[in-house]
Amino acid sequence: MNRILVVEDEELIRTMVEINLESQKFKVRSCESAEDMMEILEEETFDVILLDIFLPGMNGDEALREIRKKSIQTPVIMVTAKSNLQTKLDSFEHGADDYISKPFDVQELQARVKALIRRHKPEITAKN
Ligand code: CA
Repeated sequence: MNRILVVEDEELIRTMVEINLESQKFKVRSCESAEDMMEILEEETFDVILLDIFLPGMNGDEALREIRKKSIQTPVIMVTAKSNLQTKLDSFEHGADDYISKPFDVQELQARVKALIRRHKPEITAKN
C-alpha cells in the first residue's frame, strides 16, 4: 500500500485530501506543520509527500530544502494558493517533483500522486 504524508495547516483541506486519498487505497498520515513533518520523517518513510508552501513556522519551501539536505529523496508535490511562476520555479529548484495550485480538483491531485508513484517505483525496483 502506498503511503502519503500530507502537510497542511488548513484543517478543511487536510481532511478533504485525507478522505479522498484514503478512498483511493492510499495509507495517509497528516500533520499541520513542517516541524511536525521533520519529526515524522525521522521515523517513517513515504511514497509521496504533499507539502503546503504557506505554513505557520517553517514554510514548505524551507522544509523542502531541509529534507533534500538530509538526503531524503521522497517525491514531493508542493501545494500553494498562489499560482505564481517564480514560486513554482523556486520549488523545482529546491527539489520539488510536482506542483499543484489551490483550489485544486481532488481528481487532479489523485492523478498527480499516482503518476508520481508510477514514475518513481520502477527506479526503486531497478536499484534493488
Ligand atoms: Ca497553508
